[in-house]
Amino acid sequence: MQALTSRARQVDRKPMTFIEKIYLWNIIKGMVITFKHIWKRKETVRYPEQKRAFSPVFRGLHILNRDAEGRENCTACGLCAVACPAEAITMEAAERKPGEEHLYREEKYAARYEINMLRCIFCGFCEEACPKDAIYLTETFAPANYKREGFIYGKPDLLIPAPGEKKQA
Ligand code: SF4
Ligand code: SF4
Repeated sequence: MQALTSRARQVDRKPMTFIEKIYLWNIIKGMVITFKHIWKRKETVRYPEQKRAFSPVFRGLHILNRDAEGRENCTACGLCAVACPAEAITMEAAERKPGEEHLYREEKYAARYEINMLRCIFCGFCEEACPKDAIYLTETFAPANYKREGFIYGKPDLLIPAPGEKKQA
């Protein structure tokens, strides 16, 4: 029968010799390969004790930024959500009330802002689309979680602490 590829090989069906039956030669060949690799540079790292350096273009967890006076930059314009190819961003806009000028930079702000990290592909389009420098991708990655809800990051997780404020654990 004609072979389908040039890599086809005839199977050797002759009976095994005594040496072949005890697999000694194969064990020796395997051990030689093992010992050759013992002295080679190891590609694995002992995470989390050791951490690999990130690429300079690494994009990790998002943060919502504040201005120099500690006010939220985000004006809930929705451009990040529109740009997001994974539809990972959800937000609700609210009007700034008199007396809240120290909290929000403009008349509108995001009362609710959520990113579903299970959907996010860390492409950075949200950061590029934002006209207010409000959202950035950092060099940290989303920690593991046993529950899906743990991957829905809301404003308390995303917003950087205001000056003099400590981030909630
Ligand atoms: S990084 Fe990409 S996928 Fe993730 S929220 Fe931003 S736009 Fe969406
Ligand atoms: S993060 Fe930027 S793009 Fe997204 S809603 Fe806020 S201001 Fe608009």
